[in-house]
Parts: sequence; C-alpha cells; structure tokens
Amino acid sequence: MLLQILLGFLCGMTALAAENGTAQQGPPLLLVSFDGFRADYLRRFPMPNLKLLYSQGVLVEQLTNVFITKTFPNHYSLVTGLYAESHGILASNMYDPTSHKHFHVTNDTDPMWWNEARPLWITALDSGYKTAAMMWPGSDVVIGNRTATHFFPYNPSVTFQQRLGNVTNWILGNEKEQGVMFAALYWEEPDRSGHIFGPDNDTAMGKALKEVDDNIGLLMSELKRTGLWGRINVLITSDHGMAQCSAERLIRLDDCLHPDNYTLVDLTPVAALIPLKDAEAVFSLLNKCHPHMTAYLKKAIPDRLHYRNNERIQPIILIADEGWTIVQRGDKLPRLGDHGYDNSLPSMHPFLAAMGPSFHRGYRISSLQSVDIYPLMCHMLSVPPQPNNGTFNHARCLLAAETCWDVPLVVGLVVGVLLVLTTITVLFRLFGHRRPSSPRPFQRLQVDDDDDDDPLLE
Ligand SMILES: [Zn+2]
Repeated sequence: MLLQILLGFLCGMTALAAENGTAQQGPPLLLVSFDGFRADYLRRFPMPNLKLLYSQGVLVEQLTNVFITKTFPNHYSLVTGLYAESHGILASNMYDPTSHKHFHVTNDTDPMWWNEARPLWITALDSGYKTAAMMWPGSDVVIGNRTATHFFPYNPSVTFQQRLGNVTNWILGNEKEQGVMFAALYWEEPDRSGHIFGPDNDTAMGKALKEVDDNIGLLMSELKRTGLWGRINVLITSDHGMAQCSAERLIRLDDCLHPDNYTLVDLTPVAALIPLKDAEAVFSLLNKCHPHMTAYLKKAIPDRLHYRNNERIQPIILIADEGWTIVQRGDKLPRLGDHGYDNSLPSMHPFLAAMGPSFHRGYRISSLQSVDIYPLMCHMLSVPPQPNNGTFNHARCLLAAETCWDVPLVVGLVVGVLLVLTTITVLFRLFGHRRPSSPRPFQRLQVDDDDDDDPLLE
C-alpha cells in the first residue's frame, strides 16, 4: 500500500516534470564569470552585494566543474555543456598530433582548437537572436565560421566597468540594432590574486573579494539604471576554485627521469607528456616518482574524469595531489595558489548565483554539475541545445515556473500520514471492541451527576 502511494507520487512528479519541460521564450540572459571564485570564499568573506543578489534569487553552493579544473576548459564547458574531452579545449597548453600545432592561452585564436563544439553565443544566433561575449575565453575566435554578434578581442586592461557598459548597451540595443538575448561577461579576479597570494591569505584575498563584490554592486546598479533589473536573468558563476601551494610541496620530474625521455606539453598540476622512448618504461619511472603524484597511461585515465577520448590528450598524464606543484627541476615555486587539480576536490569548485524573473526567490541547493548550466540556459532562451553532457532536469528546480518536490520531505510526509492513520485505526478498533462491555461511562455522563466516585472506565 505504502509502496503504491509512493510510486503514485513519483509518477505524478515525473509527469509534472515532463509537462514543465515545454520551453517558452524568456527574458535576456547575462552570464557573468569571476575567474577563480572558489565556493568557500562566499562563507569566508563578506560579500554584501552578491548575498543581496542571491537572496532575491537562487544559490548553488558548489558547482562540480570539469577536469582539468583550468580556466579555458571550464569556460568552454559552461557555454557548451560538454566535458573537456568532448569540446576539445583540454588544457592551458595543448599539442594536436594531427596538425602538429601547439595551443597556449595567449595563442588561442586558431579556430581548429574550438571547432569540436559550438558555444551558446553561436547556437543562439540560429534561433534568430543577437548575442554578445565580452572577453569570455574563445569569444574572439571564429567558431564554425561565426562569432557572437558583438565581442571584444581579449584585453586585460579594459576595466570591469567598461566591459559591463558595453554589455548593457548591447543588451538594450537601439533603433538600428536589436538588443542581444544572450551575453557572456568575463572578469579576471579573484583568480589573479589567488595565484599571487594563495587562497589562504585572508588579507589579500579579502581585498580581492571586496573588489569583486564592488563589481557585482556595479553590475546591479547598472542594471537598475538601464531599467534591465527585474527584466533580465543574471547568472554569476566561475570556472574553478584555488588551492594553496607551497615550496615544501614540489614534485621534481628530473628526480625521476631524464628530460630526454619525453616531450612536455603541459606541466602542473596536471602534466601531459609524450614519451620519446619505451612508453611503458617511461610510465614505470613516473608511476613511482612521488607519493603525491598519480601517473596514468591515457587508456587508464578514470572514467569519472571524462578525460580520455580526445587526440589532444597525451599518452601519459600526471596528476598532482591538492596543493602540490609539479616542476621539472629546482626549488622555485611558480605560484602560491593554483588550480587544475581533480575536480572532485571542494577547493576546485566554484558556485552559481542567479536572479531574475525566471528564477525562484530565496532558493538554495548544495550542488550541481557545471555542465548542467548549459541546458538550463538553452531552456531559458528556448534555444535547441546542441548534444551535451548536462541534464536540464538537474537544474530545472532553480526556475520559478517549475514545480519541484523535495522527495525526502514528501516520503516523510507520506510515512507520517500513514502512521497517524494506522494509529487512529488501531485506537478505533480498540474502542470498538470495548464499547459493548462498558456502557456505564456513557450512562454516567448522561444522567448520573451524583456518582462522582465511579471510575469513568473500568
Ligand atoms: Zn580561471
């Protein structure tokens, strides 16, 4: 009986979800990334503007991002819903064995690196929308022979206010140019400070986070000034977190094998190597190189990392433990903070805050996959999603139009109601059995006012 009721509830909820899956055109959508915003910064530092924003909207406390937890792979995942192995932007430094080309984040505009996927600023064009991407990684690259309607070549000296001013103008449009329906905006902090000072430096990170929060305040006031506030959906998120590094935690490759044995494509915290001699022998040396570094032959990279099925993944990868830095030689620590580590580590996770007419108010969940944001955005914009690794159903409860049940609560309520009903039934039966043999209490209640010493029940 209980099972039937529960199944009935669950079937009803599934039907409701399917019904609610019907897409409807929504307001414009602005996706903002503050690079390197580790999820726990939200708890460690006062962020009054950000807190005000998500108190009127939704907060996902931690996003499980994609491996490797670097800037370019994760920014491309946010706008494609794909793991790195599927979108092809696999690291900050890559080598393509077919074209023999090299990729670096400062030399990234060859379309061939980006053409394995289509970012939302391209696919939304097919729905008849104008789009904009302000310094988002890949946004100044011609992808599938197209770019966003508006974009700027990457230039770190352009201030947040200048980037924001352009984005709001593009969203608003004018007599000549229709406003954009999707815009992506990128800002370099708190990543830059996290690398220089390390995430454990409260003073320096407090200052960087204060500036980030001031920029969020600027965003809110700009949206209010332009009349967009309340008419636009805003998502604020990031690509990855940051781990504290130390000169005490260096892993030297030269201690394990001579550099003549391999070509180094990427170094830390995930090294990518092409063995030049016997691959098994090179792997064997690297495998026992350091207790805080795990070596994988490409074919043995764990499924959960979704980091194997791409030609640009090299024959051997080495993954440092959290806070450890791989160097070739020497004692010099390159950065006090770094990211790129295993994406199951909480220190690598960013967050998501969102508000606007499509979102619930004051709603909070503990976690989500970052690849789920893409199908959510496609749904909000009524843009047919490209094939992706995300699941809209994971994210749909953030939306005001969606009715979501808290399954544990519902199960608890059903069990509670059944317990009460069972108790009432048992009591009723008990009374029912005893009534014929104990008529006196009722006689007494009706007529016998003087008989105070008689028990009510025998
Ligand atoms: Zn980054």
